[in-house]
Amino acid sequence: METQIIDGKALAIEYQEKIKTQVAKMNRTPTLAVILVGNDPASEIYVRHKRQVAERVGIISELFQLSPITTEEALIAFIQELNANDKVDGILVQLPLPKHINADAVIEAIDPNKDADGLTSANLGHLFVGTPNLVPCTPMACLALIKTVCPILQGKNVVIVGRSKLVGKPLSQLLLDENCTVTQAHSKTVNLKKVCREADILIVAVGKPNLITKSFVKKGTIIIDVGINRLKNKKIVGDVEFDKMIGHVSAITPVPGGVGPMTVTMLLQNTVQIAQKRQKNN
Ligand code: NAD
Repeated sequence: METQIIDGKALAIEYQEKIKTQVAKMNRTPTLAVILVGNDPASEIYVRHKRQVAERVGIISELFQLSPITTEEALIAFIQELNANDKVDGILVQLPLPKHINADAVIEAIDPNKDADGLTSANLGHLFVGTPNLVPCTPMACLALIKTVCPILQGKNVVIVGRSKLVGKPLSQLLLDENCTVTQAHSKTVNLKKVCREADILIVAVGKPNLITKSFVKKGTIIIDVGINRLKNKKIVGDVEFDKMIGHVSAITPVPGGVGPMTVTMLLQNTVQIAQKRQKNN
């Protein structure tokens, strides 16, 4: 079987061109405030990349790098200032936060109308009751990638491995809305292999290299690998044994170059959506 490698970078560039055109048509420049607490090297790389792509599409990204000993109260107070700042459209808090800060409380402090990551309970609630507003970026990225190889999703058996608020849960809702039959697997799932073998489309968002081997996957499945794992030799890999899937599955996303570039792009799409709505309301 020929396996199609789903090119997330190429799709991201297509989307970014559309975003650029939308930004050029606006009478104000969308602004994204990015908050980074501390100096975790991986987070610094992610933030730098998000800001580079923002600049490429014409979005202003302002970085606020706060000390690693910033208190939860001070961080929340800072977010409230950004909420009230008319120049700021989207607000993004780079995760993970240092252990002394409750990330849920911080996310909740973001004005849901400026919530570029779509992670506040208000925005997740909108998604779950069928009135989506700002939708989390990685799930939107996965859906866009799947549609490049499978435009009609109705009736497909989808297995999502992972049930986080960031990826698994909202993705499950997006795929239900596409009329898929969704199975959500997780760390306590019994016989994960058997569950995964039922999938027409298998999405893995766990964070464990080589969790999914060839024997977990029926022939012809579409695989979306969300995982990002840094090995001891510094190589970045996903959760799926990529090489063994070639010739066995119909399509697969690589890591890197699959879900990652599209996730960043969806963040910018959300920022433009916020800015357009604010422009209309002014
Ligand atoms: P998380 O730690 O919040 O959730 C992991 C999930 O995996 C949990 O729901 C847990 O139940 C499940 N799990 C753990 N061990 C398991 C096992 N042995 N079998 C089955 N399920 C198991 O992580 P997250 O924030 O959802 O991220 C998951 C992965 O995706 C990470 O590697 C992360 O770096 C990556 N990620 C990538 C992007 C991107 O843009 N590419 C975005 C977000 C997250």
